[in-house]
Amino acid sequence: MKIWASSRPAFFFLAFLFFSVWLVSSGQESDPYIKKRKNMVSEQLAGRDINDRKVLEAMAKVPRHLFVSPSYRSQAYEDYPLPIDEGQTISQPYIVALMTQCLGLRSGEKVLEIGTGSGYQAAVLAQLTDKVFTVEIRENLATKSSQTLKNLGYENVHVKWADGYFGWEEEAPFDAIMVTCAANHIPPPLLNQLKEGGRLAIPLGSTLYFQTLTLVTKVEGKPRVKHISGVRFVPMIGEAEKRKSG
Ligand code: SAH
Repeated sequence: MKIWASSRPAFFFLAFLFFSVWLVSSGQESDPYIKKRKNMVSEQLAGRDINDRKVLEAMAKVPRHLFVSPSYRSQAYEDYPLPIDEGQTISQPYIVALMTQCLGLRSGEKVLEIGTGSGYQAAVLAQLTDKVFTVEIRENLATKSSQTLKNLGYENVHVKWADGYFGWEEEAPFDAIMVTCAANHIPPPLLNQLKEGGRLAIPLGSTLYFQTLTLVTKVEGKPRVKHISGVRFVPMIGEAEKRKSG
């Protein structure tokens, strides 16, 4: 009895040690993609022109494989886009990083994304700021991405099912807006909901083939436009299409 009493602290210490080691190792086992993700960051991102340390860290953190269906998981860190539900796509990692980098988000800023899709881009934005709002027009995708984000603990991402052409009036103004579907013009409500000095990234141009990733900065209420790169995105539907043909 005496021996047990005197060795009790040592016993609990050892039990605690084993438990901690088990926790750490099981955490690593539950993410078998850490190495692939690191390679993606060094080769596809830092190896090109992604040099914002915070963006690289964000891309190294978000488990992209959990935003695609199980049959695509092994390809989640490859250098190309992947299909998600309803004929939509999750962009190539490089494009996600490029769009994030060109917004130049600072911690505490409020950002709006149009086109939630899988929720992956929103999760990347959530690594940089705690105020992320995202709008998705397809109900299934809005429901599913919202669930995925919740399951992964992204409590700071707010998903809304609506036509993102109209932005998110109740939450405006935003420091930055990222549009991840293509339109042939800048939706005026988005420009209105942008703060003075705010940044908006949008694939602009023909919605069927290629577009130009365009960075718009609001200066004295007017858009100042900079072309970033050629891109290919799925089209923005809803009001954007009506206005296009009308
Ligand atoms: N950012 C997403 C991928 C975007 S794919 C991700 O990280 O997975 C483009 C998305 O834009 C699709 O989900 C599509 O349904 C959505 N979309 C198209 N038109 C829209 C609109 N008017 N408003 C909001 N979302 C729209």
